[in-house]
Amino acid sequence: MNGNLYERLCAQADAARPFARQAGSGLISYAALRARSAQYANALLDLGLTPGDRVLVQADKSAEMIMLYLGCLRAGAVFVPLNTAYTIAELEYYIGDAQPRIVVCAPGRLAAILPVARKLGVAHVVTLGGAESGGSLASRADQGDALCPTVECDSADLAAIIYTSGTTGRAKGAMLTHGNLATNAFGLKACWRFTAQDVLLHALPLFHIHGLFVAVNVTLAAGASLLLLPAFDTDAIVANLPAATVYMGVPTHYLRLLQDRRVNRELTAPVRLFISGSAPLLADTHREWLERTGHSLLERYGMSETGVNTSNPYGGERVPGTVGQPLPGVSVRVTDPDSGVPLPAGAVGMIEIKGPNVFAGYWRKPDRTQAEFRADGYFVSGDLGLIDERGYLHIVGRSKDLVISGGFNVYPREVEGEIDAIPGVVESAVFGVPHPDFGEGVTAVVVARVPLSAESVIAQLKQRLAGYKCPKQVLFASELPRNAMGKVQKSVLRGQYADLYQAARGAATLRS
Ligand code: AMP
Repeated sequence: MNGNLYERLCAQADAARPFARQAGSGLISYAALRARSAQYANALLDLGLTPGDRVLVQADKSAEMIMLYLGCLRAGAVFVPLNTAYTIAELEYYIGDAQPRIVVCAPGRLAAILPVARKLGVAHVVTLGGAESGGSLASRADQGDALCPTVECDSADLAAIIYTSGTTGRAKGAMLTHGNLATNAFGLKACWRFTAQDVLLHALPLFHIHGLFVAVNVTLAAGASLLLLPAFDTDAIVANLPAATVYMGVPTHYLRLLQDRRVNRELTAPVRLFISGSAPLLADTHREWLERTGHSLLERYGMSETGVNTSNPYGGERVPGTVGQPLPGVSVRVTDPDSGVPLPAGAVGMIEIKGPNVFAGYWRKPDRTQAEFRADGYFVSGDLGLIDERGYLHIVGRSKDLVISGGFNVYPREVEGEIDAIPGVVESAVFGVPHPDFGEGVTAVVVARVPLSAESVIAQLKQRLAGYKCPKQVLFASELPRNAMGKVQKSVLRGQYADLYQAARGAATLRS
């Protein structure tokens, strides 16, 4: 059997059924999906692509981007999607690390990316502008054959690299295989009871596992349909919910929707399932949503390296404040973080995961890969939690110093590096504190030797970093709190500034 994910996801769907609908480009059937993804595969092959080559994509969300993703699978390429907010400086790192043969970018970024890509030896830089504005790759696809054989793959072959990071240094590429993605898509389809009749309202980005490998792959696995929105927007959600049967979002989406009185039982009645993931969902949000809409939110837990690991049940009790139980075939244990010895029910420790969903390692970083796997094959997630007597997993915190703001991960070390590079800065500490809109607000405490304003620090960071990584507030101090070993005590800072954003509800803008 061909282990290529495309064959497994798309081969059996009814060609006449709709795959996607998006504003401005009508309905796309499964027959059209097959034809268009073949055209993209042919366009990539014409550019000299060979199986295993990376295709790095930083493009706006569109159905065309999904067709490109499927075209990459069919041609045997490794799809490397990147956050559209990344600056050129950030892209330079990713291009250097992934060494793609082809870079696909939005037409408006071509001039800025070309010199960087040339310097780093990229063979082709082509553009994709979404449904309305075309792009050079879309034009090549237009001329290509609408038929192509799908490259034969082993399920252990790479399908995608998703960049993610821990506390150490720059982002690492999590290598996901055709088998990893297939097992998760079909596991979730069964767990969440997706059928060809489902319509998923899609407001998530396509560069993250949630929007791409969870939302799109599960939809494909079921032969179901997507209702594609360019981004989260309360008015658009309210307008489109009546045509949907499933909604998938990050907790910030649900907080936002709860602020709108139009969101009620009547509006949400056609929807059979609301799913939340990517960041902790407050038990209060779960309860408020149930009271307002009559729907019990289904919370699940996953990460770039593994896809989804655990889910609250479709049929059984969805327990607020928990992320449910392991998916079939996935083993989750909680261990002593230092020794790796499994802990009994109720004890807090390191969450470790093993199963066919777990990634193949970090791209060209064998040392990092080795450091994050136990000898018996469990992946050390970096999240701390406990498993209760009923087998439900509770996440209590992250051992990584990651901040999750509006569903996006922000790695403090990266932001600190940019702050410390500003003339006059001695040192800095970046951490997250509760934020009513974003879950966590990125916050910086800076020690400076010359007078600096918070505004000027933020303005300089915006030149270097994607907006969601920039601190919402910059505070100044004469020194950072440190422990006896000289380590900055971020827990002290988090406590000190815990209430910083309590007045900010509704004031911030959402970037996911
Ligand atoms: P990413 O690799 O961007 O998907 O981020 C993965 C991280 O998001 C995990 O390691 C968790 O720390 C966090 N995460 C994902 N889902 C949940 C959840 N339901 N509750 C709490 N944290 C979550």
